[in-house]
Amino acid sequence: MPAKVDVVVVGAGFAGLYALHKLRSEGLTVQVFEAGDGVGGVWYWNRYPGARCDVESVDYSYSFDEALQQDWDWSEKYATQPEILRYVNHVADRFDLRRNIKFGTRVTDMALDEETLRWEVQTESGDVVSARFCILAVGPLSNANFPAIEGLDSFDGGVYHTAHWPHEGVDFTGRRVGVIGTGSSGIQTIPRIAEQAAQLHVFQRTANYSVPAGNVPLDDETREAQKANYTERRRLSMASGGGSPHEAHPKSALDVSEEERRAAYEKRWELGGVLFSKAFPDQLLTVDANDTARVFWEEKVRAVIDDPEVAELLVPKDHPIGAKRICTDDRYFQTYNRDNVHLVNLRAAPIERIEAGGVHTADAYYEIDDLVLATGFDAMTGSVEKLRIVGRGGETLNEAWAEGPKTYLGLGIAGFPNLFNLTGPGSPSVLANMVLHSELHVNWVADAIGYLDAHGAVALEARPEAVADWVKECSERAAATLMPTANSWYLGANIPGKPRVFMPFVGGFGVYGRIIAEVAAAGYKGFDVIEE
Ligand code: NAP
Repeated sequence: MPAKVDVVVVGAGFAGLYALHKLRSEGLTVQVFEAGDGVGGVWYWNRYPGARCDVESVDYSYSFDEALQQDWDWSEKYATQPEILRYVNHVADRFDLRRNIKFGTRVTDMALDEETLRWEVQTESGDVVSARFCILAVGPLSNANFPAIEGLDSFDGGVYHTAHWPHEGVDFTGRRVGVIGTGSSGIQTIPRIAEQAAQLHVFQRTANYSVPAGNVPLDDETREAQKANYTERRRLSMASGGGSPHEAHPKSALDVSEEERRAAYEKRWELGGVLFSKAFPDQLLTVDANDTARVFWEEKVRAVIDDPEVAELLVPKDHPIGAKRICTDDRYFQTYNRDNVHLVNLRAAPIERIEAGGVHTADAYYEIDDLVLATGFDAMTGSVEKLRIVGRGGETLNEAWAEGPKTYLGLGIAGFPNLFNLTGPGSPSVLANMVLHSELHVNWVADAIGYLDAHGAVALEARPEAVADWVKECSERAAATLMPTANSWYLGANIPGKPRVFMPFVGGFGVYGRIIAEVAAAGYKGFDVIEE
């Protein structure tokens, strides 16, 4: 490995792989470090049964290479984790990416030399590399949240976090399984585990909205039609709110007749997937509009659950539909009709402790053989904050972000020149299709590097006032929606002690793309372009 490179990239998921490919194609030397033993990032780690993307496969795939998108055949509308991992591996091989990736290697430190404005990057394995640019491609949902439940360490059986699933899989046949957590991961895996386990107890703290995924196999005809229309599909995606070609109903949910509204929801319900939360443009803007979707959802879901008392517990009462990431499922609610599945309401009786053979709640004891933690992530900032990043004046990134993440356009951080954070706070991030988002960010960074070189400049650094304005804009845009009214991980609400700041940019993927393009076109307005 060279001691000096142009760019160090942390992470070999979708963003890191494309950063390597793009920047290497521009003639730069690039070194990628990846903690896992293979490519894929979140798709490398999250191997729990039922793991599947909630963005259509035709959209959740790279657009940068026409031959790639024409050659690759997705087998289903929503790809499973193994299929996505095969795809990412195919991309790594096809573009000969592995030779610049060091696997099984966690970056620990990044320190700015204020004289040269180069970064010294260190890894757990003792590597030390000097880089002009650092790209953080660590992913917004990669730092698993292990709940601090008393006695968890003393549990005798298997403990499996959905985000760290054993590669060889887990056989739950004949086992008494407990699942803690009913977010997207829990909701996907619970029906699959229920099919195998002898008994399944689901420990639910907060009920969640989920809509049927509506997954179907793709036939040749559909694939051909999609591929023939790829250019237009990508164009629409780049201009869209969330990075896939979706158009909401043109009117407010409150400006249409009951019949028309119902038809629109019915259509989205039949199509399946997360876009149910965007059927009408104002669904996430006013409680009245949101209620129309919520009531429709509730009717649909109650109808498939046999026991009305169980249904009552499974219907969320504490947040508007879509204000937390809506989940998608394959017969999740129907799973509670099975004799071997039991819902435990932690709101009525919280978990008090775990011991060798089971889980104690405030009012009962459950004998459990295996525990599944579907307890999510320290999202958006968790993986960045695990790195010790030291910028100007010896300030660490964690100190700079003590009150919450502060970025300009999500990409730049004052005091940390030439350090680019991809698809994190201050960008649409988790609200958009992460593959196209990664491409958007990497292309922007590549252009920025080209601009510096063309102007004989050494570094790009966000100005503090631009950061302050962007943080304010992001929070004002969020406050104009219902999004901050839910206790979601978008706000850091799932991690005790984390500052409550709405982290993603809610203004839409297309709008965001235009903003960052305008900044670049204006000579990187809001950034200091530092000359030698
Ligand atoms: P999550 O949405 O944060 O859900 C975590 C669950 O664990 C929540 O139900 C939470 O309850 C519960 N929990 C956490 N700590 C607990 C404790 N100490 N005791 C009891 N319950 C506890 O995490 P996730 O399901 O992994 O999903 C995170 C995000 O990843 C999703 O929103 C989505 O963006 C992405 N994802 C996507 C897909 C997909 O594409 N289909 C699949 C999986 C994940 P509370 O709500 O009460 O905190």
